[in-house]
Amino acid sequence: MNHKPLVLVVEDDAAVRNLIATTLETHDYRYHTAPNGEAAILEAVSHSPDVMLLDLGLPDIDGVEIIQKIRTWSNMPIIVISARSEDRDKIDALDAGADDYLTKPFSVEELLARLRVTFRRLHYAQKAGESEEAVFVNGDLKIDYAAGCVYMAGRELHITPMEYKLLCLLAKNVGKVLTHTYITREIWGSAFNSDVASLRVFMATLRKKIEKDPSNPQYIQTHVGVGYRMLRME
Ligand code: CA
Repeated sequence: MNHKPLVLVVEDDAAVRNLIATTLETHDYRYHTAPNGEAAILEAVSHSPDVMLLDLGLPDIDGVEIIQKIRTWSNMPIIVISARSEDRDKIDALDAGADDYLTKPFSVEELLARLRVTFRRLHYAQKAGESEEAVFVNGDLKIDYAAGCVYMAGRELHITPMEYKLLCLLAKNVGKVLTHTYITREIWGSAFNSDVASLRVFMATLRKKIEKDPSNPQYIQTHVGVGYRMLRME
């Protein structure tokens, strides 16, 4: 991106909105603000921002509904902001197509880190769109899609078909939080609680193969109660 990224801040709480705006301003982002859902959609349509920070608890339109509306015409990254009491909403928002989330209260550092992750993801997604890549590389991890092989630091891993499916799904969405529901639907075509239990088992065996220290994973992050995210390695 050769221009300053434009962030749309949707938040009805003026204090939080001002804090975010000040943070963005001092870190070289441009921003627009919207105090409710209706203004948010209008802003999104008329200024096509690069990313949207969306508070889920708005006075007029439900946050999940806003995401669904926007997803009918835009892939703009959406980071939702929710209170702890809105955990269920947060998961629904991710399932509706949000990219990431921040839980209130959050620090300025957290906000900036989420934005960096999102812009990096956008950057790689644009590059990947230009050339349909047959090989996925992230740090020491390499997936050869054509051959169906996975390598770690040049060494081929013995990986089961289910682990491979799971790894490819995370790789395809690198940088993005995927909910348990999304993953189990993609892998098994269903979303029962028993599938989430199986998912944990497959994740554990996959981590043993790709992580140096599976108890302190570098590649696949756990979001407790929410899901998993593959991190983009520097
Ligand atoms: Ca609110």
